[in-house]
Amino acid sequence: MLRNNDVHNLKREWYAILDNLTALCHRLPPTNLECLTRCSARCCPQVRMRTMEPGSIASPVVVFLPFEMENIIEVSGISESAFRRWPVHMTPDLAIDVGMFDLGKPCPFLQPDFRCAMYMRRPVDCWTFPLLPTLDDAGRLAWEYGENCPSLSTLNPDFVRSVKDVWADVWRVLPRSWWDLYRAADDWTGWPLPEESAL
Ligand code: SF4
Ligand code: SF4
Repeated sequence: MLRNNDVHNLKREWYAILDNLTALCHRLPPTNLECLTRCSARCCPQVRMRTMEPGSIASPVVVFLPFEMENIIEVSGISESAFRRWPVHMTPDLAIDVGMFDLGKPCPFLQPDFRCAMYMRRPVDCWTFPLLPTLDDAGRLAWEYGENCPSLSTLNPDFVRSVKDVWADVWRVLPRSWWDLYRAADDWTGWPLPEESAL
């Protein structure tokens, strides 16, 4: 039977993992992307995307790692209602809600000038974009790129190598259920729900 202690212990483990990942992300070299001159935050889910063609959006969804939503809520004080939640099985007996931002729950940290109000504590998915982790058919870590990022041609190869180092260990402890969510989110077209379109 699932006990509160199980979730508490898992959360504590993941907070340590997230602290380590954040420290590694702080040491990433520059991306060399030209975000502010070539783009308007096409990788940050935002209300204005609702009128854009899917082919113009670089990433309609930000998927958080396990307990990253809780961590960011604690750091930023933002309301839980800002997040989409999706159940992920950490073990066959233990499911948790993983947070997301999408077109129905746009990122609350995106500022009018397209800068990020949580830049130094942004989700790992945001730190490492336009690289997108995935699993290959053999279940090994593989990489794709956010192909609608208009600045891919300037992406720094050192940044790419370093992002792969950031992910060197964490990918092994992520459950298959999280990978399924991450994969599905990339193709998600069902959001926003009709009632969310008015937000
Ligand atoms: S990473 Fe790419 S899609 Fe995102 S803001 Fe920069 S240029 Fe735009
Ligand atoms: S947290 Fe920052 S980088 Fe991530 S989607 Fe929001 S504004 Fe963009």
